[in-house]
Amino acid sequence: MNEAFLKAVPVLENIEAAGYEAYFVGGSVRDYILGKEIADVDIATSAAPEEVKTIFPRTLDVGIEHGTVVVLHNGIPYEITTFRSEAEYLDFRRPSKVQFIRSLEEDLKRRDFTMNAIAMDKEGHLIDPFNGRGAIEEKRICTVGQPAERFTEDALRMMRAVRFFSQLAFEIEKKTYNALASLAHLLENIAVERKLAEFEKLLAGTSRMKALKVIGETGLSKYLPNMSGFQKELMKAEDYNAAELTVDEMWAFLACIFDLDESKAGAFFKSWKLPVKKIKKLLAINKWIRYRAKNKWDAYSLYHAGCISLNAERVLNVIVHEDSSRGIDILVSQYNSLPIKERSDLQLTGDNLMNWFGKPPGPWIKAELEKTEKAVLGGELNNSNESIREWLINCNQKLGKN
Ligand code: ATP
Ligand code: MG
Repeated sequence: MNEAFLKAVPVLENIEAAGYEAYFVGGSVRDYILGKEIADVDIATSAAPEEVKTIFPRTLDVGIEHGTVVVLHNGIPYEITTFRSEAEYLDFRRPSKVQFIRSLEEDLKRRDFTMNAIAMDKEGHLIDPFNGRGAIEEKRICTVGQPAERFTEDALRMMRAVRFFSQLAFEIEKKTYNALASLAHLLENIAVERKLAEFEKLLAGTSRMKALKVIGETGLSKYLPNMSGFQKELMKAEDYNAAELTVDEMWAFLACIFDLDESKAGAFFKSWKLPVKKIKKLLAINKWIRYRAKNKWDAYSLYHAGCISLNAERVLNVIVHEDSSRGIDILVSQYNSLPIKERSDLQLTGDNLMNWFGKPPGPWIKAELEKTEKAVLGGELNNSNESIREWLINCNQKLGKN
């Protein structure tokens, strides 16, 4: 067994010593079988949340209404979730009521895909009633039970299918795929926040371009924020080689292939409820892509774009079907050789200006700072306080003569 599981074995042993069952479940077991690195070890148990709390001295009630208690063991947090069935679904969303049960098999049955419905005991034996292991070996994503039923219960599972497709480079089994296409409209009932969490994982996956194609092809895109008109564009995503792009760059890439101007791009990012700070960054990337599509970088544009210039260059490379890293090294050295990288690097302050010219504060200060900044970036002027003083006094004398 892997190190991460071995560390958690005492947690299972403690639960068992109290007379209950406990297993490793979910993504960690799947990733372990796949030979991938394991993120979080999740545990499922027959003990009710209150019972789990009596077994461990230190617990956190993070999701107790869903049956999850977090236990700290040797400083590592483990989510321990009581076996549950989700019998009652309303509105194609999460179950209206969670029912705790004592049977592992029933708990595995409510899980989304067969590859995610495998349990492992403390000795490393798998409990795999739906042959999830077979699906993993054959690289196949298929639902536990009938796809149409499972997607009708919780439509988010459709997004999850495509995000696992992107992350794992598996195929989506035919019946499951067909159900995506015929039930895409059920996504309408799902909160943007839940769609976003899956979509960002999709954008980070190795098969993301293929996954975007699936999103378009199945019509899922029609029920994703501000994506309804872009089926054709999504289906062409595979033509681009975006293997090296970051998730932020992927968002900017989408705004490009959808041909969104600044205000439409803003509306697109907002409709996904992305954090304001991130939207600002994405809009800046898109702004500099538009600039760069028409102009070459110079000291002044590089100074203003900062690190965003690299993001913009990489995305633009992908859009024009070049390797994303083309010209990046040169751009980095061009950026590194800028005489100043931000306003605070400039050897000139507002106080300097007021002292030198004996004038009170006002908009003239900003104008002088910008003028100086431009001259320093343009290589006309040395960035030293003394040269700047001479230069400015000289400029002003000339102005006075005119
Ligand atoms: P990741 O590695 O990205 O965390 P994961 O498979 O662990 O992938 P989680 O969202 O952490 O995904 O969910 C943990 C487990 O809970 C899943 O493996 C699956 O068994 C179950 N699960 C999660 N969401 C759903 C859902 N909407 N419907 C049914 N089962 C779900
Ligand atoms: Mg997980």
